[in-house]
Amino acid sequence: MLGFTHALIGMALCKLLHLSNNFLEIGLAAAFAVLPDIDHPSSLFGTLLHPVSAALYSRVGHRAFTHSAVFMAIVLTPMLFTPYFLLAFTAIASHLLSDAITFTGIPLLWPFNRNFTVLGGIIKTGSWTEYAISIICLGGVLIC
Ligand SMILES: [Zn+2]
Repeated sequence: MLGFTHALIGMALCKLLHLSNNFLEIGLAAAFAVLPDIDHPSSLFGTLLHPVSAALYSRVGHRAFTHSAVFMAIVLTPMLFTPYFLLAFTAIASHLLSDAITFTGIPLLWPFNRNFTVLGGIIKTGSWTEYAISIICLGGVLIC
């Protein structure tokens, strides 16, 4: 899925689950929701941290290590006893689940599984279905 869709899904989920209603914390949720795409040089974090992104992209490619349970554990373990753990967990998990719904899927058990999908991978990235999900999540962010 596209970056803005990940951000909107992460923010909407955090608001719907009442993890926060604070503007800055919802922004933090959006940042965590787009973090796994750091392995793509044209993503938000790929642009901000280009050397890291370029190294990841050239070594393992897009939707590899950063879209796995291993990456989640590495990012979330230092946050385990902070007030932002559930928010970060929800946002990153929303990214992995929403990418798992796409045709390509994710390597959740990287480096062993290269094609984990949810619901059979029914959504094409950038399709009208993804835009519809984005609009619904935008509504959730604005209304909740
Ligand atoms: Zn992704």
